[in-house]
Amino acid sequence: MSNFRLLLHVSHFLKCPYFLKDRERKKAMPELPEVETVRRSLAKAMEGKPISQVSVWRDDLRIPVPQDFSDSVKGLFVHRVGRRAKYLQIFLDKEKVILIHLGMSGKMLIDIDSNGSNKKLKHEHVTFLIGDRVAIRFVDPRRFGLIDLCTRDKLSSHPLLVHLGLEPLTEEFSDAYLKKAFKNKKICIKAALLNQHMVAGLGNIYACEALWYSCLSPRRNALTITGKRAERLAQSIKQVLTEAISRGGSTLRDHVSPDGEMGYFQNSFKVYGRAGAPCFSCNKPVQKMIQLGRSTFFCPNCQR
Ligand SMILES: [Zn+2]
Repeated sequence: MSNFRLLLHVSHFLKCPYFLKDRERKKAMPELPEVETVRRSLAKAMEGKPISQVSVWRDDLRIPVPQDFSDSVKGLFVHRVGRRAKYLQIFLDKEKVILIHLGMSGKMLIDIDSNGSNKKLKHEHVTFLIGDRVAIRFVDPRRFGLIDLCTRDKLSSHPLLVHLGLEPLTEEFSDAYLKKAFKNKKICIKAALLNQHMVAGLGNIYACEALWYSCLSPRRNALTITGKRAERLAQSIKQVLTEAISRGGSTLRDHVSPDGEMGYFQNSFKVYGRAGAPCFSCNKPVQKMIQLGRSTFFCPNCQR
């Protein structure tokens, strides 16, 4: 790690007044706001530039990197970097699209001055050289992430994308949509929110946060989310995601060179990672329970 990058890490930590316990941090996976933040930094580094070289160091990710991946994208220009749920989509010449998922521990490290050097980092599986200086390094210790190649016309029917629910930050995502998505679903609302077929891009952290904002118990049955409850929930989901993205954006501006450390904007969490600490609304202690093998943080007094 260069001194420059180390410096960026330190400045980030000094700014955060509140930290998640290490255990919670390690379990935290990239969710929609983190992926959107990565998308924005990739767009700055890649758009309008050619992929001059691709090195696949290891192809056995969650699904194997296509065999001819390097030859297929080498020399193509990047038109746009997009996102669908937690998938990054890099639109290239010849109607090709690279699909990337960060899985549980994936990062896209942007090395703005690699000088074309091919020196690989630990757990770096794929390296994209953009132009002649910028290297984008896909680093993923647990290898639950993936990189795939697709064409633009087949993107919406790609097996990983075809069943995704609505994007929460679109106009169509509303109380009416939630009511319809949760109809006849005899599962707890926390599980319904984590189901990517119903709500795309939401994960454990922001599901806990949105339930606290909407005063709904994570144990509540999803089919009871109608009327005012559905209105509150749709609005809270949009609010927590929008605020997290805007914090991510300001982090990037401060850092100038995004270093791939996503940070999770943890200084703003209302319940996540705060078991035993006073609820910001009623002062009673926030509680933690395990649902479907994941930690749920909630205020039993405020959330009904
Ligand atoms: Zn409370």
